[in-house]
Amino acid sequence: MARYVFITGGVVSSLGKGLASAALGALLQARGFSVRLRKLDPYLNVDPGTMSPFEHGEVFVTDDGAETDLDLGHYERFTGVAARSTDSVSSGRIYSSVLEKERRGDYLGKTIQVIPHVTNEIKDFLTIGADEVDFMLCEIGGTVGDIEGLPFFEAIRQFGQERPRGQCIFMHLTLLPWIAASGELKTKPTQHSVKELRSIGIAPDVLVCRSERPIPEKEREKLALFCNVRPDSVIAAYDLKSIYEAPLAYHREGLDQAVLDAFGISPAPKPNLARWEDVADRIFNPEGEVRVAIVGKYTQLEDAYKSIAEALTHGGMANRVRVRIEWVDAERFETEDPARVLEGFHAILVPGGFGERGTEGKISAARFARERKVPYLGICLGMQMAVIEAARNLAGMPRAGSQEFDHEAGEERFEPVIFHLREWIKDNQKIARDVLDDKGGTMRLGAYTALLTEGSRVAEVYGTHRIEERHRHRYEVDIKYREALEAHGLCFSGMSPDGRLPEIVEVRDHPWFIGVQFHPELKSKPFAPHPLFADFVRAAKEMSRLV
Ligand code: GLN
Repeated sequence: MARYVFITGGVVSSLGKGLASAALGALLQARGFSVRLRKLDPYLNVDPGTMSPFEHGEVFVTDDGAETDLDLGHYERFTGVAARSTDSVSSGRIYSSVLEKERRGDYLGKTIQVIPHVTNEIKDFLTIGADEVDFMLCEIGGTVGDIEGLPFFEAIRQFGQERPRGQCIFMHLTLLPWIAASGELKTKPTQHSVKELRSIGIAPDVLVCRSERPIPEKEREKLALFCNVRPDSVIAAYDLKSIYEAPLAYHREGLDQAVLDAFGISPAPKPNLARWEDVADRIFNPEGEVRVAIVGKYTQLEDAYKSIAEALTHGGMANRVRVRIEWVDAERFETEDPARVLEGFHAILVPGGFGERGTEGKISAARFARERKVPYLGICLGMQMAVIEAARNLAGMPRAGSQEFDHEAGEERFEPVIFHLREWIKDNQKIARDVLDDKGGTMRLGAYTALLTEGSRVAEVYGTHRIEERHRHRYEVDIKYREALEAHGLCFSGMSPDGRLPEIVEVRDHPWFIGVQFHPELKSKPFAPHPLFADFVRAAKEMSRLV
């Protein structure tokens, strides 16, 4: 049975709880332990799949097709452990499962209550797969004291009580604000936060304190005394230049040692941090810089494209260059000439998205990249827009469009090069969908295999002919246009194994122009950059030498 670390937060949100959890996971791995990370979110959506990226940032998709919190992306990037649908849960999912059981009559006439029915459901969730790893790290979303988080806090309290002694510990992340007027770091908010936690029966074993300034010994002692933790379990978390410094920084501050001490694991196995030292070296010692424009729709919130930004950074690390990302709102190109904005960039990336707004701008960006021979990576919607562009401007179909944008008009008015997929095969089973289906969880989701064409650029980039990548979309390129497009230089170089669904397109006569129907960014790691991103940045680096 795994040991459990529960990670909670206090004082304010956005302190980097997800990052601290992920870094702790990486450090435990560095000491030879196996880990799995898990997120419990108090909101009532069943999953974040239906939320706008503006609300909740990117939706991270797992191999087994769950739409989850973006923190799962951090977990994967830091530990390399592929997240599963059972690594993310919300109040919404817990309640809907409780209510389903109630309707089925599973509770045998009992009155259904938060304690014990909801808390039992949460505890059952915590134990899934617990025999597979040494440590299970469970992060509770939100901050202590939030009304909607209470059932989760109560559940982890019970869980800790019910397990044998020494099997669960609690780590609490807070903020020490710097008050300029008095020139002091303040510990009072942390004291209050811990008091709140203790009032619901949870005593933290490790306290992680975010702080802009070094924490003086005196304040550390005060925190230990008033929060009832050992002085060496008060861990400082300073602002970092790169998130990938976090494992080394937390190790320096003694986080992994404090956690192992709290479990009584002694002597602690020595850590091997070579992987993170190499990562830090690549991040902090680049030998050049490339400028990449991301032409998207949710550009005001960088979290909306979190994994893409990270994957580009990894691509930079593979090539020892810094990747400077500039966010360009696609809608600008509906009135402005893209050349005026995009000239001077070494590569252009058009990410995924939903709905019509901004799509004509993305099509213009794809055209600019194709015609000017600037490296182009189109992801999901970014691939679909590149296909529409090629259909319109190369294959002589000026009315090419997507059914996503014009359900009503029927097929008379435009050529549905991108169509709404109603039926497909997953794991040898047929999946059927209708336009009127629920929005939540009904896309083509999760890992699917693609076969790559011999001699294509992607086969060379991946170094193999069979890949598995994660999907999240409703629409597809219609193969009925394959011949017309290939005749004009847009090649279908990756297909689903049954040959029905185009997975990758590339422009032959171009230094680097690739569109993928899936999301490669979700599988990139700092210590194992995704081949597409590594090669895309390599092409950008070459471009930077030309301009
Ligand atoms: N909106 C498009 C679809 O559903 C693309 C989705 C995406 O970019 N993830 O097919």
